[in-house]
Amino acid sequence: MHHISKVIALTILTTSLLAAQTVPTPDASAADARVEEILKTISPDSLRSYDNTLAGFGIRQTMSDTTSNTRGIGAARRWIHSKFEAFAKNDPQLKVYEDRFVLENVPRISKPTTLVNEYAVLWGKEGMNGRYIVISGHYDSRCTDIMDYTSDAPGADDDGSGVSLVLEAARAFTSTHFKPEANIIFACFPGEEQGLYGSNHFAMEARQKNLDIIADLNNDIVGAIRGGNGEVISNMVRVFSQGYKEIKLGTREVNPEVIGYENDSPSRELARYIHSAGEQFLPTFHTTLIFRQDRFLRGGDHASFNKYGYPGVRFTEPNEDYHHQHQNVRVENDTLNGKAVRVQYGDLPQYVDSAYIASVCRMNSLTAALLSISPPAPQNDVMLVDKLEYGSRFRWDNPLHGNGIAGWKIYYRKSAQPFWQGYVFVKTSAQPTVDYDLTKMSKDDYIFGIAAVGTNGTESIPEAPLPGK
Ligand SMILES: [Zn+2]
Repeated sequence: MHHISKVIALTILTTSLLAAQTVPTPDASAADARVEEILKTISPDSLRSYDNTLAGFGIRQTMSDTTSNTRGIGAARRWIHSKFEAFAKNDPQLKVYEDRFVLENVPRISKPTTLVNEYAVLWGKEGMNGRYIVISGHYDSRCTDIMDYTSDAPGADDDGSGVSLVLEAARAFTSTHFKPEANIIFACFPGEEQGLYGSNHFAMEARQKNLDIIADLNNDIVGAIRGGNGEVISNMVRVFSQGYKEIKLGTREVNPEVIGYENDSPSRELARYIHSAGEQFLPTFHTTLIFRQDRFLRGGDHASFNKYGYPGVRFTEPNEDYHHQHQNVRVENDTLNGKAVRVQYGDLPQYVDSAYIASVCRMNSLTAALLSISPPAPQNDVMLVDKLEYGSRFRWDNPLHGNGIAGWKIYYRKSAQPFWQGYVFVKTSAQPTVDYDLTKMSKDDYIFGIAAVGTNGTESIPEAPLPGK
């Protein structure tokens, strides 16, 4: 859905609207070629070597050893740091950062512990005050007992897979010398298992600085294709997204249920964006969108971003195997179908499929690349509800007065449909605000999302226009 030339699922109703306009056709081929180059660079071999290295540190529990260079979370973080530094040598647009803070007297931390967020920023043309896209994973691991910081906890899948993905994405963007407009942050957090501590600190500081983070793509347990139920799925990843809890419009509070926007939070629009980008660029690898923040009894670093008002989703493999998560490495006797079996517990590298991580890495990198070269989302977009009428009217700002913008797409779907069913293209104008009247589509029956379309063919994440006057 990222190309104007690929007009999909338009109803007769909107075809007539489209025909009435002279639609500029931005050439997306240059943008596509840049994205394809990144996708081609992502390598299962490289992911395999990263994941083996991370598991090889033995344990990465947040309170584990920081003095050894071969075992414990300190060795792991210094290795992650060295990888970012190596990528930065390739591309000076990548800068490497560390964010250190000490935790004590908090749940699941039994001694004063220094946590270090390891991250790198691929600075785009927009600079510090521009938009940010985060690709994240957590580099801490855990034993059966959350407080145990000495036993083996290789964490090959949870979350060696996610951290390997973050590193490989950073390698792909820098080795292809990708030049984004928005900034891309590659982030590896500690303290996730103890209580999302690393990501919480990061998102809290981002909010204090008012960074414009438009997406956190969080990867946690993205490495295994065989589930504990025996099912093998290698061509799909789950994408979890939180709905709206509340909508604040200045001092006014709008109830998402009253206006039918339960499924149109910024995180869910991001999830749909990922889905449609994947359909276009990765037709043999799929996303299953799950409209809840996370699995039952579980949490992840995207929730920290959500907590501070940022859109964020979680990528997780389709079938997990609980023998390999949060379990000390050991073999136990068990019975399966009446037969005695030996069961291997522990999060070991042999259960991680690097070709699968590569697919999830491509889905992440694709989304980040497209978003980073897309125009900013429409501002002050409203659905006008000042009188009873049969159609739908919209208004939004055009702060760039058309510069770099080919136009906008008003996506629509029936209220009970999960995915956008079509769109109407509105070409750019030199006016500071744009008004558009969809006379034949009732706002009572449809959900709408407005996306800005760049002259390079890329699109912002659609935004559900809030009712206004
Ligand atoms: Zn995890």
